[in-house]
Amino acid sequence: MKKVLVLGAGQLARMMQLAGTPLNLDVKALDVSSNKVVHPITPEHIYGDLAAGIIHADVITAEFEHVAHDILDQCQQSGKLFPKSEAIKIGGDRRLEKALLESCNTANAKHYFVNSKEDFDKAISYLSLPIIFKTALEGYDGKGQWRLKVAADAEAIWQEMADFLNASTTTVKQGIVAEQMVPFDREISLVGVRRVNGDVAVYPLTENHHTNGILTVSVAAPINTKLQEQAGTVFKALSDKLNYVGVMAIEFFQVGNQLLVNEIAPRVHNSGHWTQQGADTCQFENHLRAICDLPLGSTALVRPTAMVNIIGEDTIPDEVLAIASVSVHWYNKGKRAGRKMGHINVSGEHELQLAQRLQSLADILCPKAFPDLNDFAKNYL
Ligand code: ATP
Ligand code: MG
Ligand code: MG
Repeated sequence: MKKVLVLGAGQLARMMQLAGTPLNLDVKALDVSSNKVVHPITPEHIYGDLAAGIIHADVITAEFEHVAHDILDQCQQSGKLFPKSEAIKIGGDRRLEKALLESCNTANAKHYFVNSKEDFDKAISYLSLPIIFKTALEGYDGKGQWRLKVAADAEAIWQEMADFLNASTTTVKQGIVAEQMVPFDREISLVGVRRVNGDVAVYPLTENHHTNGILTVSVAAPINTKLQEQAGTVFKALSDKLNYVGVMAIEFFQVGNQLLVNEIAPRVHNSGHWTQQGADTCQFENHLRAICDLPLGSTALVRPTAMVNIIGEDTIPDEVLAIASVSVHWYNKGKRAGRKMGHINVSGEHELQLAQRLQSLADILCPKAFPDLNDFAKNYL
């Protein structure tokens, strides 16, 4: 039984554990805040700390990119970390991420790095309004972002960012990346997987809907083959460049026929949760296969499937389970506003049926908690 240690003990480690069990993989998690090796489901303390976990594990991976560098470095030294620390660090620092995209000639939003008021002023003249400012480190779920729409707000936004930078205590120096706001037609993402021998498999593109920077709905249904090819080429270029091993997600903005990379995630990804019931092999299993150097599983779409995030709620009506082809996945996390608490997957034999089931879901779920689902389902029908 191969032993896998996941850095981070959240829902992604939990779902890796659930996917790994049938393959006889022993998946444990390191709670990085308490430095304890825990069971990813319960999550009770099993034994020791990071040092013990590194010795015990055959393979180490991460469920998020914001892992402290000293932890990543220790894991890297053991030779057991996949993907390697460099890839995880790039995913956790937007400056390194932009440098990677530039080095692969991958289209992305025009940007400028900001560390001072002088840079801030230069960014505004180099880019044009509206501009989105993002913290270089630690951002997720749309946190650590400022949107500058009108010049009159510039001073106030700079003050907030300057205060933020001054208060920052990160070991790597914090900074800001200013990005041109992209007038995208839609947001899509590609989840793919690469094995150490260079084998690559990618899932069908997923269309994503965000509310206040946080993912709410992802839909996987057959999509334009040209875009699928374009995204596949980007995945191959970036993952080859990094000699990547495991699942990686790439978020794109679609503008006409062109894809611009928004960001990459060096891990299993929320926009890939639909694969649990919509694909031949789910992303969690494929990630484990890749890092354990096993043959990759088919990434083919079985049937159109959507994923709806449950955000800040710890219950939903039981009738949800009465809708055909619905499955509910809770993460066993404490309730907190804006927190991803679970998700719902729903499939249809064809897109119309999927849309009808999404509408049934929207009708049952509290409209306050899922304000966009109703609009989304109506548009989709
Ligand atoms: P995640 O949880 O996906 O890691 P994050 O906090 O890293 O999110 P981003 O993905 O960079 O943040 O941004 C969150 C959302 O904000 C995007 O999905 C998109 O809706 C919007 N956004 C970000 N950058 C831009 C941009 N340059 N132009 C237009 N919209 C943007
Ligand atoms: Mg991100
Ligand atoms: Mg994102």
